[in-house]
Amino acid sequence: MGSCIFCSIVAGEAEAFVVGSSAAAVAFLDIAPLSRGHTLVVPTRHVTDLLEGGADVLHEVAPLVEEVARLLVGRLGADGLNLFQSTGEAAGQEVPHFHVHLVPRWRDDGVLRNLVREPLAADDLDALHAELSR
Ligand code: AMP
Ligand code: ZN
Repeated sequence: MGSCIFCSIVAGEAEAFVVGSSAAAVAFLDIAPLSRGHTLVVPTRHVTDLLEGGADVLHEVAPLVEEVARLLVGRLGADGLNLFQSTGEAAGQEVPHFHVHLVPRWRDDGVLRNLVREPLAADDLDALHAELSR
């Protein structure tokens, strides 16, 4: 994919701090991390997002996601980690090459603290469930 920054990293044409790789995926440090060790895992082939890549792209990155999760927790002494993926601009996706975020977490680190969650009323849960079950 011509101008894709993550394809350029995979090809070794753009600079990145690679922390792991497999035949199908590459892991490198995020340049604007949410926490110390925030890492991205990308498939070596260009796939825009989860809806385009489907389960195949999840399978392609999964072994490296696990390996890097263990590396981050083990080497950096993290207490845990968050794993997320953004599909589409509405979800905050900025780079249109599928990537999984691995965000190491430490107790009381305050990372991702502004996510607001409200309990949903039982009627609304019921209606939503019906909508998804048709
Ligand atoms: P998203 O918002 O899910 O598309 O995440 C894109 C992520 O890529 C952001 O966390 C950026 O900081 C990160 N990023 C963008 N360009 C680079 C790059 N050249 N090397 C490493 N991380 C990058
Ligand atoms: Zn790409």
